[in-house]
Amino acid sequence: MDRKKINAFKEAMEKSNKIVVFTGAGISTESGISDYRSKGGIWDRFQPVYFDEFISDEKKRIQYWENKIELWDGIKQAEPNRGHMFVKELYDKGKLFGLITQNIDGLHEKSGLPGESIVNLHGTNLEVICLKCEKIITAHEVFDNINLTKGAPLCEKCSGLLKPNTISFGQQLRYDDIDRANRLSSECDMMIAIGSTLVVQPAAGFPALAKNHGALLSIITLSETPYDSHADFVFNLKISDFLDLLNR
Ligand SMILES: [Zn+2]
Repeated sequence: MDRKKINAFKEAMEKSNKIVVFTGAGISTESGISDYRSKGGIWDRFQPVYFDEFISDEKKRIQYWENKIELWDGIKQAEPNRGHMFVKELYDKGKLFGLITQNIDGLHEKSGLPGESIVNLHGTNLEVICLKCEKIITAHEVFDNINLTKGAPLCEKCSGLLKPNTISFGQQLRYDDIDRANRLSSECDMMIAIGSTLVVQPAAGFPALAKNHGALLSIITLSETPYDSHADFVFNLKISDFLDLLNR
């Protein structure tokens, strides 16, 4: 790897004061969270439950919760890795303008990054929401007491359907989140995309938006992305290998 290239990246990062980091599944694989689009990933093992099925069919709701219970153990135990800490350090240095993530594992929250700095595009598994009154409960509260033999869990307050606060298949992303992500992307002076293949829309559009508004674009991911030719810096590395290089 070109020493000059990493030094130029370091210099650009030091000059930037409004850095937006965009993260995908690749940042969490080193925390033992599987990339759910890859082979053997979650979607290979579980039949996805679409949002309208969840609303209309108790059997589908039970199936959905069974899947989530199986995933919960992994999510509960996973710890943030050096990649997440790299983002937290940018925040501590006052350089982080915001974080946009496609991940639902809550590892950025666990790294100590405050919630107001985070746009969880696909929601988070750390929370459960009532679909009727929109009350938010911690996932621990629900999963620690769940008993599916009594049916899918309901809101204690209004008896509405409870659902992990993630975006399901067939469910729209939240307007507020898209709006915040657009604003962060168009106002940042540097965007660092980590561990995303940048192919899923609309998420993949944010790096392009940043670049079009004059920000420097850096991409750190193992595989190639459709934006590599537009980026100022591309490092086809695992995040830990990239950080080894950066800190050397
Ligand atoms: Zn409710």
